[in-house]
Amino acid sequence: APHASDRLLEGLNPQQREAVEYRGPALLIVAGAGSGKTSVLTRRIASLIQNREAYPSQILAITFTNKAAAEMRERVEQLLGQRAEGMWISTFHSACVRILRREAEHFGFTRSFTIYDSADSRALIKRIIKELDADTMGHTVSSAANKISRLKNELTDVESYARQANFNDPNEAMFLEIFRQYTRELQRANAFDFDDLIAQTVYLFRAFPQVAALYQRRFRHILVDEYQDTNHAQYALIRELTRRPDMELLEGAVGFDGQPLRISKTPLDESSLTVVGDSDQSIYAFRGADIRNIVEFERDFPRSKVILLEQNYRSTQNILDAANAVISNNFDRKDKNLFTTFGAGEKIVGYTGYSGHDEAQFVADEITELHRNGTDYKDIAVFYRTNSQTRALEEIFIRSAIPYRVLGGTKFYERAEIKDVMAYLVCIANPADPMALRRIMNVPKRGIGPATEAALQSWADARDESLREAMRHAGELGLGPKVTGAITGLAEILDEVGSTVEKTQVPDVLTTLLQRTGYVEALRASRDPQDEARAENVDELVAVTKEFQRNNPGGRLLDFLTEVALVAAADELDDSSGTVSLMTLHTAKGLEYDAVFITGVEEDLLPHRMSANEPGGPAEERRLFYVGITRAKKRLYLSLAMTRAAFGDVSVAMPSRYLQEIPPQLIEWKQSPGDATSRGGLRPRALNARREGFSYRNSLPSGGGMPAAPKPKTEWANKVTGQVRDNGDLTLEPGDRIRHVDFGDGRVVDVTGVGAKKIAEVLFDTAGRKRLLIKIAPIEKL
Ligand code: ATP
Ligand code: MG
Repeated sequence: APHASDRLLEGLNPQQREAVEYRGPALLIVAGAGSGKTSVLTRRIASLIQNREAYPSQILAITFTNKAAAEMRERVEQLLGQRAEGMWISTFHSACVRILRREAEHFGFTRSFTIYDSADSRALIKRIIKELDADTMGHTVSSAANKISRLKNELTDVESYARQANFNDPNEAMFLEIFRQYTRELQRANAFDFDDLIAQTVYLFRAFPQVAALYQRRFRHILVDEYQDTNHAQYALIRELTRRPDMELLEGAVGFDGQPLRISKTPLDESSLTVVGDSDQSIYAFRGADIRNIVEFERDFPRSKVILLEQNYRSTQNILDAANAVISNNFDRKDKNLFTTFGAGEKIVGYTGYSGHDEAQFVADEITELHRNGTDYKDIAVFYRTNSQTRALEEIFIRSAIPYRVLGGTKFYERAEIKDVMAYLVCIANPADPMALRRIMNVPKRGIGPATEAALQSWADARDESLREAMRHAGELGLGPKVTGAITGLAEILDEVGSTVEKTQVPDVLTTLLQRTGYVEALRASRDPQDEARAENVDELVAVTKEFQRNNPGGRLLDFLTEVALVAAADELDDSSGTVSLMTLHTAKGLEYDAVFITGVEEDLLPHRMSANEPGGPAEERRLFYVGITRAKKRLYLSLAMTRAAFGDVSVAMPSRYLQEIPPQLIEWKQSPGDATSRGGLRPRALNARREGFSYRNSLPSGGGMPAAPKPKTEWANKVTGQVRDNGDLTLEPGDRIRHVDFGDGRVVDVTGVGAKKIAEVLFDTAGRKRLLIKIAPIEKL
């Protein structure tokens, strides 16, 4: 091999090898899941460095999560056998923060800007909507936040929106006002929201060509993983970075972003762009990801080369066949058939629970079984479509003593006390930020009420000063001496601690702050038992800063705040710990596990009911299912429930339409309703009764052991259960005798819940103890 050493090419198939060795301005690697896209990208970086074609500092690699970035860096260094300092391997957001921290001063921000997460943005939008009385016109925080986010991802700023807005429509005019104020407030607060990080970097590059040129010259090799999920702003960023300063316009040619195309005058000196992606795994259209970025790559980047990879190195053939079959139902895609040499492997296991709890019990039992047979907990993952599905799983996992970890969900940094303390740190780092200041102004209580805050705010507004500056002038506001003292006292603490951050280690900054503000003391003194736990969480945050300092010996407060702001859901994952991972299907992208459970494979969940109204919604949901399936290496479980407590109600669930797309011979259905709750104790007679009454296997026309998804709901349910009935207001009390189609006769021991969610706990004469949803259970009172 002329370029890379043999070790770097070891074990690669010819197409992978070509992808590592190819040199040219633009390379697109398109391939299905598990075909080695990420691996090839990693080896390509290593090969560039090893062959001295690039210094590490000339490489910019973009991954989808910080965790993926850390893994890629580790892998590159492992391949090279040495540290590769100066290499940028990060998410789009992290890379942009690094650029903005250096360059934000060019356009009126300081390097200590705050990064608003979506909760911060929403809080700000909420205030603005209230001030403008926009809620009376039907503007909600969600609708405004989503629209602003979408506009930013399309690089539409307030000015360009104003040019195209229809001012005859009062709604649109109002939205423009919200957008305008929101933008102004962010600027005043010296803050960027998440979408700004990308968009503002693009604006920076466009407005300051000399700044752009710096980065264009620096990054000679740009590599992007998961390219199918880039949105327009990210695409534009790549375009800006790959535009060489010495390039000339390509006469008359216009790229897909509307910008003129250029080519380098000196081809040898040009930068190279490598992107890898799989349009079948595009699952972020709702956040503005644009599949056209991959489809039109060849047009957008002249003289580009495309390499296809088809061999899958992750999954067994059965799993791949299921994935291929499902995704082939999407039109408008290039057919590709993944294959493997691993052999058929185990069949996919299907399971239909009576309820979400029953389904969770099945998952727990199978995990216990897998673990007994030698699979580590860390090699097992459970996926679901919505976070609300975790509750049942968690309850059962705790009861079954299965160690687990939920990725995403209510995170540490979303707890109130952690947000308080973080707000203190933000106040110190960025005195211009009023959101953070408002949060802590009276926490712990120091007698600064809403009226005082309003007085400070109007002083600031009148002079176009910050809220913080107003605090320093508290004496001029004519407030009482006690309040004035409290305000000045707080301002002093913030200023004093703030003046030390450049020189002080982060844990010291934090502990000084906690001491001087009395925050922890107030928690400890409180009689609320919750406050003790809160104080412990704050201790935990101190531990986090200590760990940060260990990993970043020279790191300062700003670096710490940046890191925290960019922690994404998938980053909380810790592979070395022996826990089962629970996560949404979205979070699962790019990961792989020996055994994968996809739960809630039902209509309304997968596809999600919100997707029905979106153009392309069901197709995107199918891709999401495809992503889930292709995470599995050896074992795949698909489960659903017949009734599910979701969307605030208990309802009858239908099997997902996608299940029908999997060839029946690939799935072995491990029984349906009732079976799980009575495993082991069920007598043959009851089993027969169940078969007649309940089993999908015998009751559905397809006969393949697979639940079909006929509509409408009641018809399906009738077929499956023999009677969906609505028991209506059947009242049961402890002591009542009932008869169940499946379980036979029994005695009610307890009734809980209300209305449609009323549940009877019944002790059956032969089938044991069961919990039944009274409204729809196939029961009658004796
Ligand atoms: P996804 O689309 O899910 O992101 P991917 O295309 O990025 O998948 P990788 O994660 O790079 O695929 O690779 C999948 C698995 O196959 C990994 O465990 C990787 O180590 C392994 N693999 C890739 N190429 C080879 C190869 N040539 N020989 C053996 N194993 C390989
Ligand atoms: Mg990958």
